[in-house]
Amino acid sequence: MEKKVSPYSRAVHAGDRKRPDGDAPAWIPVTTPIHTAASFFYSDMNDLERVFGNEMPGQSYGRYGNPTSDALEELVTSLEGGAGSLACATGMAAVHMAISTALMDRRKTIVAQSLLYGATLGMLAKVFEPAGVEVVYVDFCDETAAEAAISKHRPGAIVMETICNPLLRVPALDRVGAMARAADAPLIVDNTFATPLIIRPFEHGASFVVHSLTKYLSGHGDIMGGIVLTDEASLGPLRALSRTVGFTLGPFECYLAMRGIKTFPLRMERQCANAKTVAEWLATHSAVARVYFPADPAHPDAGNIRRLFADGLFGGMVSFELKDAGREQVFRMMNALRMVVPATSLGDVHSMMLYPAMASHRDIAPKHRARLGIHDNLVRLSVGIEAVEDIIADLDQALRA
Ligand SMILES: *Cc1c(COP(=O)(O)O)cnc(C)c1O
Repeated sequence: MEKKVSPYSRAVHAGDRKRPDGDAPAWIPVTTPIHTAASFFYSDMNDLERVFGNEMPGQSYGRYGNPTSDALEELVTSLEGGAGSLACATGMAAVHMAISTALMDRRKTIVAQSLLYGATLGMLAKVFEPAGVEVVYVDFCDETAAEAAISKHRPGAIVMETICNPLLRVPALDRVGAMARAADAPLIVDNTFATPLIIRPFEHGASFVVHSLTKYLSGHGDIMGGIVLTDEASLGPLRALSRTVGFTLGPFECYLAMRGIKTFPLRMERQCANAKTVAEWLATHSAVARVYFPADPAHPDAGNIRRLFADGLFGGMVSFELKDAGREQVFRMMNALRMVVPATSLGDVHSMMLYPAMASHRDIAPKHRARLGIHDNLVRLSVGIEAVEDIIADLDQALRA
């Protein structure tokens, strides 16, 4: 789609309405069909030969691609930028693919943000480190420390998130991008929390952008999926690796992801507005000790947020600490919720609350968790698209329970 077309229009149109081949009258389906075929052939074997040899675009075998996943990849690439993308079975498969592709012919050293999504920390520690990759952790919100770590270790990849889970810190992506360029190290950015409506990491020096499609992009809590986007130089190696390891996303999930993404900008805008109202209300509540939200003028990364985020959008996530509370009081409050769903995930149409100490950051030792600032009275709220007064009323009655 043309560059000037708004994301609201791209979300509805990109990827869809491919004209069928051949000489039949040209009916065009308004949405992309679910292509379930595991393999594809041509009336002339020479064409299959050319497709296998990458001399001609086309389909050959489901692990290599499929018209439904192609359409989803075109859609997400249109929203996020980059040269192309690869839909994967889950967000974690996408993280794995990005890191593996980046490290393929580079130094087996990663500089990673110290506080990442729990499973990403787990993957670095349990998969990449045992395989011989050195992982150096640094707080990317401390630019001096980030610069020192990158110039000292000359990593083969740098891994960060645009909005960090669960304390909603926002590192200086543009400056880390410049450091990555200077060190000739590919920057891998997990943009799941911020989404391309708020920030597009390719514009700030990223070489790979990763999403859990499970979250905001699909947005309905009914599929698992992930996607890796990358630049021209890494797209070939990414696709070649995918042909071998096969973490691909099935056509049914691709279809549901596309269906969800058509309303993604509308949902996200509403979720951001609701989250801002909820965060401001929580800050005045007598049972709440502290609120973490990027619109807070006293946010430690307020300068980065002002520079990097789209105007007026601060994300749909709010974290907060309960006053004088531990696990027992948090459980009582979460058990009392009537509309907000106390389930693990985020970005869905419905509001959801998660207890990081039990769920996302469970595998981190309690002492280390405390050092990272994840205390036992902290909860994370993914604000949905409901009427904001209903979300507030539910939180209020639960906080008083
Ligand atoms: C959920 C999530 C993932 C992992 O995605 P799955 O689809 O659950 O595998 C990775 N990064 C972030 C920031 C996430 O929120």
